[in-house]
Amino acid sequence: MSELSQLILDRIRDVNDYPKPGVVFKDITPLLADPQAFGAVVDALAGLFPGVDKIVGIEARGFILAAPAACRANAGFVPVRKKGKLPSATLEASYDLEYGSATIEVHQDAFEPGDRVLIVDDVLATGGTAEATVELIRRTGAEVVGVAVLMELAFLKGRERLADIDLRALVIV
Ligand code: 5GP
Repeated sequence: MSELSQLILDRIRDVNDYPKPGVVFKDITPLLADPQAFGAVVDALAGLFPGVDKIVGIEARGFILAAPAACRANAGFVPVRKKGKLPSATLEASYDLEYGSATIEVHQDAFEPGDRVLIVDDVLATGGTAEATVELIRRTGAEVVGVAVLMELAFLKGRERLADIDLRALVIV
């Protein structure tokens, strides 16, 4: 295992029965509280896809990783937010959750035509959030060059929903 993977794994805490009974939630806050580990993660994410124009962060934990990675990569940062949070004209995409559905939005003018875009989030679980974000960004006319996550939960098979996407995870569990 790489030094970075170990650094990450040692700083992600399993929280049982959150947000509901039976779920083991991967809590990234210990990692964020460690400046060496946080810095190493941001550097790694920023270096995965050289030459991107924009890095998209998915609300809310995706923002924490995507914004500094964008700065580091000399790319623009674009927020994808839950419905109703962005002030200007938006495009939206809906996707199914275990119970009900969710809608995400991006500003219509967030990208230049042909922008090369990287999507960043903290955890890939079922892949529904990332899949909807890819679809949303593609509808703006921008090119999605990849999805990068801190941690992939392989047992949930989210990768299968992103078959045509270059998906990179700093750690896979
Ligand atoms: P998915 O759509 O892939 O099922 O879920 C991924 C989204 O839910 C991500 O935006 C991620 O922030 C959040 N998520 C799901 N499970 C976890 C988890 O165990 N830990 C963290 N930190 N986020 C999670």
